[in-house]
Amino acid sequence: MVAPSYAEIVNAPKALLHDHLDGGLRPATIVELAAEIGHELPETDPDALGRWFSAAADSGSLERYLETFGHTVAVMQTAAALRRVAAECALDLALDGVVYAEVRYAPEQHLENGLTLAEVVEAVLAGFAEGTAQAAALGRTIRIGCLLTAMRHAARSMEIAELAVAYRDAGVVGFDIAGAEAGYPPTRHLDAFEYLQRENFHFTIHAGEAFGLPSIWQAIQWCGADRLGHGVRIVDDIGPAESAGGLGGGRRLGRLAAYVRDKRIPLELCPSSNVQTGAAPSIAEHPIGLLRDLRFRATVNTDNRLMSGTSMSREMALLVEAFGYGWAELQWFTINAMKSAFIPFDERLAIINDTIKPAYAKLIGTA
Ligand SMILES: [Zn+2]
Repeated sequence: MVAPSYAEIVNAPKALLHDHLDGGLRPATIVELAAEIGHELPETDPDALGRWFSAAADSGSLERYLETFGHTVAVMQTAAALRRVAAECALDLALDGVVYAEVRYAPEQHLENGLTLAEVVEAVLAGFAEGTAQAAALGRTIRIGCLLTAMRHAARSMEIAELAVAYRDAGVVGFDIAGAEAGYPPTRHLDAFEYLQRENFHFTIHAGEAFGLPSIWQAIQWCGADRLGHGVRIVDDIGPAESAGGLGGGRRLGRLAAYVRDKRIPLELCPSSNVQTGAAPSIAEHPIGLLRDLRFRATVNTDNRLMSGTSMSREMALLVEAFGYGWAELQWFTINAMKSAFIPFDERLAIINDTIKPAYAKLIGTA
């Protein structure tokens, strides 16, 4: 079997569930937007700025990592800037062969210049529509679903949950909470999650990235999360092999890990980002290999394309290199993601049957 090449992976259809709008700007766009508003950047040459972002995210310092978002969020404070960033996001993902993406951001972080929450949401949705149309003109089809994020250290989760539901027929397909896990358990936002459940709405929770099993347990069993943002620490509940054979070579699953696997709760794994934040030691040692062997509902995601200097195709290529995956595994991750999307079942099925399966059948047939 010949390993899928990067160029082939770009052309294969991919589905992405975990991508932050403020973590995926083009460096050149940041330079232009910063110049318009007089925001000072550490570098003004786009290539140098791109390297600065990766270096800061790689530094192992949380302060430096957070500083990167200070710059991206600073240049996303007008409707025009939000619209442009969203349009470029849709186009960049489409050109990378992503056919379905859920992109998230926190509306409350874009109010510094007087925009209302509704104006922020509308600007971003308009941008996604614009980028999707530009991609279509270039022969690339992409569908973007938007997730609204509330910051876990703040107290606006109920308001953001209501905002997400208000825009559910306009392109917002889910809700999320993000930010520092330690000290800010998801149960602080229980009223928002209960409201969303009463509204039959979907949500994911960043949990089990920096923090371990209690955070995952709360997200699922107290908050009712449909999916886990990262969830990579679920491996802490998987013991060593007790017998030969079986899925994953006879590993013993604890109660929580067994529940997550039995209920097919999707894990939004982000290999490069998990390595940068220390949630995994390296791509080769990333738990995604074990979680795939054990048939968890594992998905591959980008998290922050700018900070990780990555793309969906690059993440897939890194896994091919580290784990020897072929087209069958890449299709498995892609269908897992599509099955776990927050758009209606019939629409998910259409993308799987009309786009993903025919393309991979050809790739598998010729590999
Ligand atoms: Zn994230």
